[in-house]
Amino acid sequence: MKEFDLIKHYFSQQTVKRKDVILGIGDDCALVAPPENQHLAVTTDTLVAGVHFPLNTPPRAIGHKAVAVNLSDLAAMGAEPTWISLALTLPKIDEQWLSEFSIGVFELCEFYNVQLIGGDTTQGPLSITITAQGLTPKNKSMTRANAKAGEWLYVTGELGDAALALQYMLGHIELPDNIKDKACKKLNYPKPRVLAGQAIRGYAKSAIDISDGLISDLAHICEASKVGAKLNLEDIPLSTAILETLGREKAIELALTGGDDYELLFSVSEDKKVGMATALSNLGIETYCIGQLNGTEKITTTLDGEPFTIKVKGFEHFSSLEP
Ligand code: ADP
Ligand code: MG
Repeated sequence: MKEFDLIKHYFSQQTVKRKDVILGIGDDCALVAPPENQHLAVTTDTLVAGVHFPLNTPPRAIGHKAVAVNLSDLAAMGAEPTWISLALTLPKIDEQWLSEFSIGVFELCEFYNVQLIGGDTTQGPLSITITAQGLTPKNKSMTRANAKAGEWLYVTGELGDAALALQYMLGHIELPDNIKDKACKKLNYPKPRVLAGQAIRGYAKSAIDISDGLISDLAHICEASKVGAKLNLEDIPLSTAILETLGREKAIELALTGGDDYELLFSVSEDKKVGMATALSNLGIETYCIGQLNGTEKITTTLDGEPFTIKVKGFEHFSSLEP
């Protein structure tokens, strides 16, 4: 099958047809018509086989995750996703693989009404690059540099399950079947917090999606905003899977340093807390207050009121922000 036939076959068969797509797949460029009163949010993420996902990851999961990580970046800016482009590098044409991969790509697109408008297909080691675009009301997006001392820190859901699954997939730990299946699903099929991102944009000053681990991503906000943070570790939401497998302290360490959760971490000033809680509870989205920003330019952590040092490797990267 030639490149063009392959593209046509697997990537033109989408059900999403947006009115603001003037010209989709098939020409030298796509043409889209963004509304005048909104900002265009644009992000790109690449997944390289063996680096960003284990080589034995199912193709559907690879497609799902490639879209999910990009939509997660849009969510962290409070943007509504609209269009994606897909640059695909494949070692060979494997129709079974392409069929499953395209199902993974389109499942989130369909749910969020996102249209694939173009891309590129080349031969080489497996790698997937997606550019996602979205819309956000002017001057309402949440940036990393916008946080202020005194604001409260929130996360949108349980942390650490994806990191637990990765430890299992790399052969570092054993997991019973029921825990393994649930954790691997979280690693392979992350759910970007698209609706939560839009719901908090009127309330949160800063936000980031947790892709590299809570501490690392919090450090990005702290550095960009020149603030510090105190985290109350007993308030970090942890699944029973990770608690049962690792025990409380190890579970906390993995949840803080492991990546791939794709929950949102955001800061809200005292006067916006109630409004934010109402907006999110109306959508059925839970949030957890895990600490507060301060003027120290350091991240400190306590567990049940006592200082708690994160012992695992990786934390040293962020020593400029260590207590
Ligand atoms: P060009 O020679 O102009 O780069 P291509 O032959 O690469 O064009 O692509 C033809 C059309 O198919 C273009 O509209 C392009 O956006 C689209 N396309 C190519 N690869 C993909 C892909 N992996 N997913 C979606 N659309 C693609
Ligand atoms: Mg091309």
